Amino acid sequence: MAKANTTKSTSEKTFDYDVIIIGTGPGGEGAAMELSKKNRKVAIIERYKDVGGGCTHWGTIPSKALRQSVSRLTEYNASPLFRGHNKAKRLTCAEILNHASSVISKQVQLRSGFYDRNQVELITGDASFIDTNTIQVIKKDGSIEKINAEKIVIATGSHPYRPDDIDFNHPRVYDSDTILSLKHEPRSIIIYGAGVIGSEYASIFRGLSVKVDLINTRERLLSFLDDEISDALSYHLWNNGVVIRHGEQIKRVETTEQSVIVYLESGKKMRADCLLFANGRTGNTADLKLENAGLKVDGRGQLKVNNKYQTHVDNIYAVGDVIGYPSLASAAYDQGRLAASAMIDHQSTAMLIADIPTGIYTIPEISSVGKTEQELTEAKIPYEVGRAQFKHLARAQITNSLVGSLKILFHRETKEILGIHCFGENAAEIIHIGQAIMQQTNGGNTIEYFVNTTFNYPTMAEAFRVAALNGLNRLF
Ligand SMILES: Cc1cc2nc3c(=O)[nH]c(=O)nc-3n(C[C@H](O)[C@H](O)[C@H](O)COP(=O)(O)OP(=O)(O)OC[C@H]3O[C@@H](n4cnc5c(N)ncnc54)[C@H](O)[C@@H]3O)c2cc1C
Repeated sequence: MAKANTTKSTSEKTFDYDVIIIGTGPGGEGAAMELSKKNRKVAIIERYKDVGGGCTHWGTIPSKALRQSVSRLTEYNASPLFRGHNKAKRLTCAEILNHASSVISKQVQLRSGFYDRNQVELITGDASFIDTNTIQVIKKDGSIEKINAEKIVIATGSHPYRPDDIDFNHPRVYDSDTILSLKHEPRSIIIYGAGVIGSEYASIFRGLSVKVDLINTRERLLSFLDDEISDALSYHLWNNGVVIRHGEQIKRVETTEQSVIVYLESGKKMRADCLLFANGRTGNTADLKLENAGLKVDGRGQLKVNNKYQTHVDNIYAVGDVIGYPSLASAAYDQGRLAASAMIDHQSTAMLIADIPTGIYTIPEISSVGKTEQELTEAKIPYEVGRAQFKHLARAQITNSLVGSLKILFHRETKEILGIHCFGENAAEIIHIGQAIMQQTNGGNTIEYFVNTTFNYPTMAEAFRVAALNGLNRLF
């Protein structure tokens, strides 16, 4: 059904649109699709030439496509069946970047179709506020369009933080956006920042046989993870040859034509063919002229919202990376949908699930949902642990995915599942089986579900049965 040409607010003021959304990443797309399906007249503004957001062009999709190529390469080289006595196969950065760009094109085509089919008007240009209801769009040809709407959604995402004293114009200095246009084949790389992005790129470059120095500003890798999983990641990166330096701060960076030298506050210095600076992100709010709408951001360029994703200006909502934690594509999409529901029904019908899973695409992969052992111990909750090692599963032996484990944390008395932590190939997929059961506690499901249910055999899902039996056997 075609949408009305003009819309009216409760005060009968006529607007061009019901809702204007700024940004076509998962946050903007989630809001646009939900609003359009509820027959709202929607415009979405994007300053990049293609839709999809940072998620499609510089973040989730390219990094996962790169990781997939490297992971398959590693698997091929590790398999005597495929590789035989041949020399190990090598891939260049250029080859895997090329593959990633073909995935990006497919994503853009798919996502553009969503806007067409749902009659969401896509406007290309730079958006900024004129007032709380009016947006100015500066188009590529310099022309200016002013449009207004009853409600506005800010879904402008984030960009890598760049300290002023590092020269990011130097051809050997990259951030997580520019690394995708790497033009040379580095033999060594220094990665500063060992968060999710830094750790994922450390795995990717090491898989391409590049020497990697990973500099962590904290005392352990990904300290929000369960300690055992964080330790397992450190061990596997170390075992694959990544040099990790914990508790370090960068002092300065020196560049030459062919290399970079990083000086650390501790007095250490290291040289490599290039630097990937991956330490922090800032909300994309600097160009929005938020002051015209009476909005302010914090020191990280992020906006505060309530549980309906509404800023302190009632008709303006914000979703995705621009509101900070958890800064995941998965969460941004749901936040967009929930903000749209809140606009339509005046209350959010569903809160974003408390237990958002973590998917970390290092090699090996990591995924977690719920509490860690440290959190349960600190809260004095009597829990027990059930473990399954991948190397004992038939499916893992068949696929040669022997590195990995699954751990289920559950309440000793009620047997409620409290946390699931998985390390190894396909962890991010495997976790969802447990997540589904974990969220059915009120429906009566506990860890016993996994021993009372028949799973396909041989599958990785068997890890849940093995871990559950292991854990239940510890009870007395
Ligand atoms: C290397 C990397 C790997 C990642 N891996 C994962 C992962 O595996 N899983 C996961 O869930 N998340 C991952 N993320 C995070 C994920 O990409 C982000 O959380 C997600 O993209 C945020 O979505 P968003 O809609 O808020 O913003 P974005 O996807 O960043 O989209 C914002 C859009 O707004 C546009 N915009 C900004 N300002 C304006 C303006 N003034 N006018 C018009 N348009 C504007 C931008 O051009 C952009 O297209 C990763 C991020 C990075 C950097």
